Amino acid sequence: MQTPTKLESIFGAVVARNPGEREFHQAVREVLDSVAPALDKHPEYAEAKIIERLCEPERQIIFRVPWEDDRGEVHINRGFRVEFNSALGPYKGGLRFHPSVYLGIVKFLGFEQVFKNALTGMPIGGGKGGSDFDPKGRSDREVMRFCQSFMTELYRHIGEYTDVPAGDAGVGGREIGYLFGQYKRITNRYESGVLTGKGLSYGGAQVRREATGYGAVFFADEMLRTIGDSFDGKRVVVSGSGNVAIYAIEKVHQLGGVVVACSDSSGYVVDDKGIDVDLLKDIKEVRRARIDTYAAARPHASFVPGRSVWEVPCQVAVPSATQNEISEVDADALIKGGCTIVVEGANMPTSPEAIRAFTAAGVRFAPGKAANAGGVAASALEMQQNASRDSWTFEYSEQRLQTIMSDIHARCYATAEEYGAPGNYVTGANIDGFRRVAEAILAQGLI
Ligand code: GLU
Repeated sequence: MQTPTKLESIFGAVVARNPGEREFHQAVREVLDSVAPALDKHPEYAEAKIIERLCEPERQIIFRVPWEDDRGEVHINRGFRVEFNSALGPYKGGLRFHPSVYLGIVKFLGFEQVFKNALTGMPIGGGKGGSDFDPKGRSDREVMRFCQSFMTELYRHIGEYTDVPAGDAGVGGREIGYLFGQYKRITNRYESGVLTGKGLSYGGAQVRREATGYGAVFFADEMLRTIGDSFDGKRVVVSGSGNVAIYAIEKVHQLGGVVVACSDSSGYVVDDKGIDVDLLKDIKEVRRARIDTYAAARPHASFVPGRSVWEVPCQVAVPSATQNEISEVDADALIKGGCTIVVEGANMPTSPEAIRAFTAAGVRFAPGKAANAGGVAASALEMQQNASRDSWTFEYSEQRLQTIMSDIHARCYATAEEYGAPGNYVTGANIDGFRRVAEAILAQGLI
């Protein structure tokens, strides 16, 4: 039983080698806290230093992104791509444009992505990238110039068989379009499979846009099914109002639940009649406005500025905004409000203290690397369609997504049971994802 001590020393080395990268340390800690039983069962993993190798990215790229705003002023941002692990396939993972982006954020996201992508069962490795560029308030032309400059460096590192970026916070269809256009221009290659999340007019796939939100709700639906329950009549809160939140809300409503609140960084809106998704799409995807606009357009809805959406009582919570958005205080409020299921639509939205509070209170908790894997799984389906120059219908693609989410749920559930932690989706997801990557690394020798 040397494993816990060994894991402590591995964690100490990760902290020492990656100083100041708080979110990366948090993501590593969560995995290390789960995998001891798998290491006990497989001493060959420890012998081959699989964990140590998993904690060190294969390659980290940091670059300058100069661009000019509409007034002719020059700006300099920093671009990142962390190619974390390619044991299972080409690096795969999104790009995030947000002022909070620095190496520690990109590494936490990349590390999570390795396990998430493994859980999908598809041939994709893990990576992540982005920039501290803030798209908020920028014109389309400014965003285009930024994307073109970003790709002017990134293009040399990516490719259909090497590294396939997609969107994440701040990077949606508009940005992927500009990035793809610039990649094609520089390389003179119409390489559809180099980026996913493309528009339907130039090689994108049905259901990719909806996939992360839909997938999280499919996962929640599976959780409810295991306790003989369903979404029917459930009061749900979804935080955020971006791509993940919008399509999570849409799917909850299709399954008979009612989403009564959602949010953005300015505050939250409550609408007891159920959030009007078409209005929300118009505000966020077309007008790119703030969430108070929603309350202004719906007489019975109200806007609460500057407060946490988790004070709204609900039975199911789908945090879909950003990392560490649920503090211990928020978790206590959710538990008091009657919440029994928490499903992470975003990456690591629940702080470690909040996860502990949920576990102690018997709240069923699904970590993002399992519950929000639908987005990247649909990206892998897009790669598959691009490779065969095919395109599938919406219905068929959605059915594939639903099967993938149900398989991920089943594996997490079974793995948690196998390792003596029934109902613990964190243990199930971490061990199942870890085993898949570990086996592939072992088979490929010292890489
Ligand atoms: N950014 C998404 C995620 O966190 C999707 C990545 C992708 O499709 O490559 O999984």
